[in-house]
Amino acid sequence: MRRTQANAQRTWAGSTGPARLLACVLLAGAVGACASGGPVSSPGTARSVASTCFDRETQPHTSVVDAHVHFRPFNGPAVPFAELVRYLEEAGVRFATVMGIGQVLPASSSCTYYLDCPGTPVVPSLRNDFVNAANVAAGPPGKVRLALSMTFPDFSRPGSVAAGIEVLDREFPGMFEWMGEVNLVKQAMYQNDVADVADSMPPLWAPFMATLRQRGIPLSIHADLGDNDEPLKHLPLVERVLDLYPENKIVWVHMGLSLQLTELDPARHVELLKRLLDQRPNLFLDISWRIVHDHYFAEAEKRAPYVALFNAYSDRILPGTDFLASRNKNFETYKEELAVTSSINQHLSDEAFRNIALGGNYARLLNLDYEAPEICPG
Ligand SMILES: [Zn+2]
Repeated sequence: MRRTQANAQRTWAGSTGPARLLACVLLAGAVGACASGGPVSSPGTARSVASTCFDRETQPHTSVVDAHVHFRPFNGPAVPFAELVRYLEEAGVRFATVMGIGQVLPASSSCTYYLDCPGTPVVPSLRNDFVNAANVAAGPPGKVRLALSMTFPDFSRPGSVAAGIEVLDREFPGMFEWMGEVNLVKQAMYQNDVADVADSMPPLWAPFMATLRQRGIPLSIHADLGDNDEPLKHLPLVERVLDLYPENKIVWVHMGLSLQLTELDPARHVELLKRLLDQRPNLFLDISWRIVHDHYFAEAEKRAPYVALFNAYSDRILPGTDFLASRNKNFETYKEELAVTSSINQHLSDEAFRNIALGGNYARLLNLDYEAPEICPG
């Protein structure tokens, strides 16, 4: 991963000081406790267990990581950047992946959401990545550690991906450390002229996948597993990508679920996910989006196999809201989406909670100098 010094300071990545500050914030629940100057013990000492462990009974169960948040809408006005960062801070989020949006509506369109405008084509664009990068570059240092993500790629035009990375390298050197969410299959967009990526395309991604590998950049892929009629329809395409690029860190967003796939048997789904995780050590699952919660995690019986999976593979799971920052949203919307998507955290084992909700996995994935606090003995 490459990072400019300036960016490191702005986002306080990779230095002991900020990591300590973060521990203070997480553990004390207030910045003031750290600003007063008390040293933070390293985990493992008697004092650290007494004073710095995370108490699940009294402290919030909402994730301190949002690995999937869209700072830009499909079109129209966005929640201003600084305002959205404030939402994250106030909601207790300390790490966020700053995504644009995979496709945009034409600027001339009056629509802000693609589903409201069937027939209007949406296309991948660098527009939002530029806006996000400029905002991060100009922003003051804050409590939230932001990871800029490239959302422009069009998997059906592999040559344009390498070219786009070059443009971003030139304009914002060293600042992007994630790629995605990029769409492989998104059935909800069929009505907006978006087709599945053809089987012949993934082998042509080799040049840009090599760049991502060299830089240690994770790639978040949106790939619908299927729909209620054919639940595993797109699995071969997903596996083809995983087979071609086993050394890339690939994050499968929503575990392949969508509004078109609300009736998949959880036991069957979990069996499939286990197999993929066992076979591909660099595969991660993104469990973001309230739709996933509403249709799979809300009911105890459907939730149980997922909780068992997340406990067993707790170092491979990333949380997120999938919040989309169109201007009709506000802090209450963000807070609610964080609460809903974090609800499953209450059911996790201590180890899984630490890895997933308290940022252990996120920090390891991005090589950050941060260790999630130990959980206080129950
Ligand atoms: Zn998303």
